[in-house]
Amino acid sequence: MSVGADLMARSDQVFIQTYSRFPAMMVRGEGCRLWDADGKEYLDFLSGIAVCALGHCHPEVTRAICEQAGKLVHVSNLFYTEPQTELARLLTQHSFADRVFLANSGAEANEAALKLARIHSGPDRYEVISLTGSFHGRTLATVAATGQPKFHEGFEPLPQGFVHAEFGDLRHLEGLISDRTCAIFCEPLQGESGVRPLDRVYLQKIRELCDRHDLLLIFDEVQTGMGRTGTLFAYEQLGVIPDIMTLAKALGNGLPIGAMLTSDKIAAAFSVGSHASTFGGNPVAAAAGVVVLKTMLADGFFDGVRAKEHLLTQGLQRTARRFPGIASGTRGLGLIQGLVLTPAGIERGQEIVNRLFERGVLINFAGGRVLRFIPPLIVEPEDIGMLIEALTAVLEELQ
Ligand code: PLP
Repeated sequence: MSVGADLMARSDQVFIQTYSRFPAMMVRGEGCRLWDADGKEYLDFLSGIAVCALGHCHPEVTRAICEQAGKLVHVSNLFYTEPQTELARLLTQHSFADRVFLANSGAEANEAALKLARIHSGPDRYEVISLTGSFHGRTLATVAATGQPKFHEGFEPLPQGFVHAEFGDLRHLEGLISDRTCAIFCEPLQGESGVRPLDRVYLQKIRELCDRHDLLLIFDEVQTGMGRTGTLFAYEQLGVIPDIMTLAKALGNGLPIGAMLTSDKIAAAFSVGSHASTFGGNPVAAAAGVVVLKTMLADGFFDGVRAKEHLLTQGLQRTARRFPGIASGTRGLGLIQGLVLTPAGIERGQEIVNRLFERGVLINFAGGRVLRFIPPLIVEPEDIGMLIEALTAVLEELQ
């Protein structure tokens, strides 16, 4: 048995089986490459599910982590620490927000947002409208907010106060607004359910509805935020400013950290004791976040992302044209791109992913309908060329 197979067999014996994993025991990463325990190299167009935006083991991030770990790892939020202050300062300086709450994950950042929306709106207005197809996390409240029944099944009764509007249907959304509603909660682009960008005008109309009915607009930018869509936050290119925004994933480039951002006025609804986290804003994770932000804010970073977006979309569109039986087109923003599959392609979706894995290329099948490409934002043009070549070879095999 190979080193990797032995480790995987032992792992499967001790873990509660909640994950369907690729058969690889990863041991090392650098930039857009990963290596498994048997020495096989992988080209990574998954980034740990849109997390390692600066690539694996980015030297500056690693240096900041090691330096901070040598100084102070944890003290809790009973004390002030420098990295989290700097991180919050940078986040507020470069977004609509004045204030930040730091958490450890996307679901936790969303929980903070939901609690803030409720307490801000008073006891009678507690209902949150989210969209079908959305994904907001795996805690009970974020599962309830998630607009996909498959994530609800078996966990009922779910927390009350969540209703789902049909994706893209403004009239349906408007019909759901009542005296109980406190917020509209959505991702500017639905990542998990198949790379589905929300139309600009639709989002602008949602903003108008929020203003008209005095509702908070919460953007879940856990996946789209931190550069993934070609700007630091997706809202910047949509002409819509949310009242609350959540972040996680790429914020720590792999260290667990989440954030909930809002204005002074809305933040005032929380007071001492309203919400808390033992680990939130942990100095090591926050030190990583500071480097991530400074790197992305450096001159030219997003020009590079957009140039790579162009290359990737061109390559994927060529592929879609070449294999019309399997793919019908592409969609996405920045470096979150999807190859939309035809019904025949959908049947082979997981097989395409698995065959690419065999060839040492990592992607995934999002929402059971789209091949999702979320490489590190520092991906090289040659890597994009290699991806398209491998994808073409796999689709040729399947034809
Ligand atoms: N929100 C969105 C849009 C996500 O894509 C995810 C994870 O995929 C989450 C929330 C949950 O984040 P986490 O897994 O860090 O709790």
